[in-house]
Amino acid sequence: MIATQIDRAPTILIVEDNEDNRIVYSTMLRHFGFAVDEAENGAEGILKARTGLPDLILMDIAIPLVDGWEAVQRLKKDPATAGIPIVALTAHAMPADRERAIQVGCDGYLAKPCEPRAVVEEVKRILESKTV
Ligand code: MN
Repeated sequence: MIATQIDRAPTILIVEDNEDNRIVYSTMLRHFGFAVDEAENGAEGILKARTGLPDLILMDIAIPLVDGWEAVQRLKKDPATAGIPIVALTAHAMPADRERAIQVGCDGYLAKPCEPRAVVEEVKRILESKTV
């Protein structure tokens, strides 16, 4: 079990267009006791965030229909979803991406390729900082 004060499995919404990545991250997160929901593009991600109110969102930036930057901005502007922590996943370890992630309101940032274990650690770090 993960260390958290929530008495149910926290739900992580993975917004990622690459199916292999979704499988890797979701398998790893379920292994560590999380519940997982998935979306393949930004529009679906926004919809699932609003309807499912996950405990945290993993947001790939390069995704179809609505890109990750725009999706984060829309979710952070909406009072219903503004409080959901979002971890951005960007393809390049560019300093400008890290700055932009902070500017648009992301709570965490991971540069791809990221180890599945690093994803789990970042998710746990943010959830624990929210519940303490
Ligand atoms: Mn992508």
